[in-house]
Amino acid sequence: MADQTYSGEFYCVKCKAKREAEGAIEVNAKGTRIAKAKCPVCGTNLTRFLPKAA
Ligand SMILES: [Zn+2]
Repeated sequence: MADQTYSGEFYCVKCKAKREAEGAIEVNAKGTRIAKAKCPVCGTNLTRFLPKAA
């Protein structure tokens, strides 16, 4: 499957706030989908665990 992207809310631990961002979805060895993006405000790497597709 081609790379997927996730667009939505991430929680930035540095800003201590939710940020809208877009990033690539990665799948780890356990099959968990993880979206990775960068905070548009401070540039911190953001990660978000995604629920399995319904
Ligand atoms: Zn931030």
